[in-house]
Amino acid sequence: MPKQIFTELQLKKLKRLGILNTLDLLLHLPIRYLDETKIDLIKNIRPGTMYQIEGKVISKEVSYRPRKSLTVYVQDDTGDLKLRFLNFYPSQIKQFEVGKILRIYGEIKSSSFLFEMIHPQYEFISKDTPLKNFYTPVYPATEGLSQKLIFKLVQKVFEHENLVEQYPDLFGDLYVERNLPSLLETLKLIHKPRKEYKKELFDEKKSIFHRRLIYDELLAHQFFFRGKYHENKSYKSKPILYSNSAHKNFLNNLEFKLTNQQQSSFLEIKNDLNQSHPMNRLLQGDVGSGKTVVAAMAALQVINSDFQVVFMAPTEILAEQHFEKLNFWFARLGIHVELLIGSMNTKLKDKSYERIKSGQAKLVVGTHALIQEKVDFKFIGFYIIDEQHRFGVNQRLALRKKSILNKNFEPHQLMMSATPIPRTLAMSYFADMDISIINEMPPGRKSVITKVLSSEKRNQILDTINQNCFDGNQVYWVCPLIEESETLQLETAEKTYHDLSNYFSNHKVGLIHGRLSSNDKKIIMEDFKKNKIKIIVATTVIEVGVDVPNATLMVIENAERMGLTQLHQLRGRIGRGDKKSICILLYQKKLSNIAKQRLKIIYENIDGFRIAEEDLKLRGPGEVLGLRQSGLPSLRIADLNRDQELLSIAKKDADLLLENFSKDVPTHINRWHKNYQDLGRS
Ligand code: ADP
Ligand code: MG
Repeated sequence: MPKQIFTELQLKKLKRLGILNTLDLLLHLPIRYLDETKIDLIKNIRPGTMYQIEGKVISKEVSYRPRKSLTVYVQDDTGDLKLRFLNFYPSQIKQFEVGKILRIYGEIKSSSFLFEMIHPQYEFISKDTPLKNFYTPVYPATEGLSQKLIFKLVQKVFEHENLVEQYPDLFGDLYVERNLPSLLETLKLIHKPRKEYKKELFDEKKSIFHRRLIYDELLAHQFFFRGKYHENKSYKSKPILYSNSAHKNFLNNLEFKLTNQQQSSFLEIKNDLNQSHPMNRLLQGDVGSGKTVVAAMAALQVINSDFQVVFMAPTEILAEQHFEKLNFWFARLGIHVELLIGSMNTKLKDKSYERIKSGQAKLVVGTHALIQEKVDFKFIGFYIIDEQHRFGVNQRLALRKKSILNKNFEPHQLMMSATPIPRTLAMSYFADMDISIINEMPPGRKSVITKVLSSEKRNQILDTINQNCFDGNQVYWVCPLIEESETLQLETAEKTYHDLSNYFSNHKVGLIHGRLSSNDKKIIMEDFKKNKIKIIVATTVIEVGVDVPNATLMVIENAERMGLTQLHQLRGRIGRGDKKSICILLYQKKLSNIAKQRLKIIYENIDGFRIAEEDLKLRGPGEVLGLRQSGLPSLRIADLNRDQELLSIAKKDADLLLENFSKDVPTHINRWHKNYQDLGRS
């Protein structure tokens, strides 16, 4: 930052906002604009809108009830207006001399007799003070840096610095070809739009200048992710030879027929595995669409080529469940499947480590325990991460590091997502990966019927539960974890457990929650799977992956407080067999609008991809992708959902420029996101 323009104090304050250089300051963008280019007449004003009024002070008064306030009456040729100040200095009272001319800017509220403005912005003027010829930018509020000061600093930069030289347009004629204005013109106009432009275009970030910045930001974003994508192709991997006989053998023993999309996803994976650079693929599919078997078929090919495969899941329950299923499929083919989870005793673990190290363990299924230092693999050829969003970047990197210890070969990797993300969003956000999609359910699934019920009517459910259990089926009763109070939540779950136990003396009721030891959880889940427990009361520990096809009824309490994806995940636990299933969503009285909308979406939709689209509309891409938790940079001005059209252009351009090794790529990334540089993605 040039010292001659800013004072030390200003530099310090800017630094606190993360503004370290001139461009940072110029990319500190206005959130909206004020129109001080014209005077509105009092007779035309309506409540709820911002106006600029010019008028004479008629009178003023200070009153003390209900609170101390200063009221100033102003008049123009067409009417009267009241200004009210709740916090004011004595000097301010004096300022408003009767007869003085004021220019006022603010929002109109209606009061009983007159329209009024509360705490408007105002300025004393002389008769011929000119109006502004540009819209006034409003910057994100920040401590110690007023709107006016930011505006002044920004304008100073334009006056004093040679920006053309410092921040030239990169990439030759690209912007001309894309019909986008130059960076310098863009920045100048975004900070000071001339009044000839439509103000709404600027407020809504739809001006051609916003378009340029959005494109630039998306280009930086795509450089980062597509850069990883291309870089991945430069690494070496062991190509996996496809064995048709191993595949046939597996299928012949399988208890069901693959769906078309399971087959096509497998084909994509199979082709990737055959390359001499690592596969980096995301397998997307709705809850219950059968991703595991696709991963298993891929694993089989790798094992058949004599490499180890690692399968990592986010919870012990899930890891064990995967272990059982995979072991069931593989043991009969003579393939050793190993389980490694934190709660195993030392002796078991040590044995496990040995078999992993010697290579006897061909497929290793586990949790985070897999990335502990003690674990030493022989030669990982392929790793699979289930429910990938539940792992942080660092954990995925740790697994990758473990895998490339040997001989400089990168393992192939397959990520699986818990809940679907809309295709276009996935393609842009996971632009460093290839994507396979299973958008089809195995045949014979009875779709789940969803009911929405006030929790006052919970007693009505008891008969349904009773009937369900007599028919030999099982029940989930979910008391979801409510963030504010885990303890309270546990109490609810425990109370529900006792109530249900007392009521259903014929059917065994179980309780499972996060505070139980892994071993206790395991025992309870075992009993539930074996149909010893008929009704299981659970907190959201059962949210992901748990597979008990005999459970056909689910009751979810406080459903109104849960997110769409979470509800969809939970509901996905039932309807897994060929029997009709029912999901009952209980809500407390007084539903907020957004809660109503959410329940309606869940009630009307069963397709996870559709629900994800709706979720995106409600919460926006940042939340849907879990960007805040992921530690990945979020976007300043672009919106992956709103700006899809620009995004696909940016993606194509990024690919082309990367392929041509454009020297401007790092400069461009650096302008937008310094933190892209040091954020590795696995
Ligand atoms: P998810 O995609 O949610 O991980 P899973 O892989 O756990 O789903 O599969 C859900 C259930 O469906 C499992 O019991 C699995 O064995 C079964 N399944 C998978 N594919 C098929 C199929 N093509 N036909 C019938 N059942 C299948
Ligand atoms: Mg799964």
